Amino acid sequence: MKTEAITLISFGYFEKGLLSQIEKDVSAEFSVAVYTRNGHLDLTEFYDPGRNQYDANRLLKKIGELSTTGASKTLGLFNVDLFIPILTYIYGQAFLNGCCGIASVFRLKNERYGLKRNDKVFVDRFRKEVIHELGHMFGLIHCTNPVCVMRSSTYVEDIDQKSHHFCPNCRAGLQYGTE
Ligand SMILES: [Zn+2]
Ligand SMILES: [Zn+2]
Repeated sequence: MKTEAITLISFGYFEKGLLSQIEKDVSAEFSVAVYTRNGHLDLTEFYDPGRNQYDANRLLKKIGELSTTGASKTLGLFNVDLFIPILTYIYGQAFLNGCCGIASVFRLKNERYGLKRNDKVFVDRFRKEVIHELGHMFGLIHCTNPVCVMRSSTYVEDIDQKSHHFCPNCRAGLQYGTE
């Protein structure tokens, strides 16, 4: 099946203009239409009181249930601290070549690290994280090219080192599917 569209669903509060900017950046990187809409989820059922974080595996599964059409890739956008059992935190995760993924802005802001607020840096990190997860959903694994958006990032400093673009190899590997 050919992928017809990318759907970004926001859960929670996002600054005005942020999502339209992200939608524009995603459109520029992928050869499919991009739509953004608001979603509603009671996040308390995904909250882990022991870790004071949200269960990314269960959220990802939920997004899978919400994405109804196989022709659209669905990425859920969140504002909460995500974890998977083996890691302290994650910025997002996605099914390789799959229908869905999630990403969170929670750890992308300078203020989180005691630094001065910088909206430009924040938006730049968020667009990289979103495009990275979508890259996985379009069949890409991690890349060792230092400026490729598919390079894996542990710290926000790692995100800052890379660009929000695919390297030529990754770009050639994007799988849009066949008719
Ligand atoms: Zn990744
Ligand atoms: Zn690459």
